[in-house]
Amino acid sequence: MITFEEALRGSKAYPEIVKGLQLLSVEHFGYDGKVHTGQLVVPIIAAIEIREIFETLFLFSVPIEKIIPISKYNWDDNASMADNNTSAFNFRTIDDGTNRLSPHSCVDYVAIDINPFTNPCVIGNNNFPTNAKYKPEAKGAIYEEGVILSVFEDKGWTWGGRFESISDYQHFEKRLSSFK
Ligand SMILES: [Zn+2]
Repeated sequence: MITFEEALRGSKAYPEIVKGLQLLSVEHFGYDGKVHTGQLVVPIIAAIEIREIFETLFLFSVPIEKIIPISKYNWDDNASMADNNTSAFNFRTIDDGTNRLSPHSCVDYVAIDINPFTNPCVIGNNNFPTNAKYKPEAKGAIYEEGVILSVFEDKGWTWGGRFESISDYQHFEKRLSSFK
């Protein structure tokens, strides 16, 4: 378990964003079938709902391999995805040549990536992380009518698997203004 300070160490986020964040502990079943405690950095305003989501996933024994704040990966999303690490906050731009902030920056949106190696982001013929292949029947996969998808969609989150231009199977997001 790490502290909030450790979970934010080295982030480029402005102080006013950091002020709105908290470190949430959640229980989950790992791919080993055992109970683990994970930690997620989330906006305070969304924390109660995110706790409820992870409690429901736990009740349904949904396998989530690991949940470690991304500071442990030096804010490197590729390294976190390749390690199948579930995470929320990461102040960063989108990796598409624009300088747009990712919804994971927790400025206008909150976003969570679940089991990213099992649920890669597919853009054309490229998968992120590379070498990851999306198989709806795989352990920890997010798929139509699966528990993970219904738990998030029931609470009004948008699934990246439904985006028009890309299939970001790991990704859920929701506007922060909808929590007010
Ligand atoms: Zn994402």
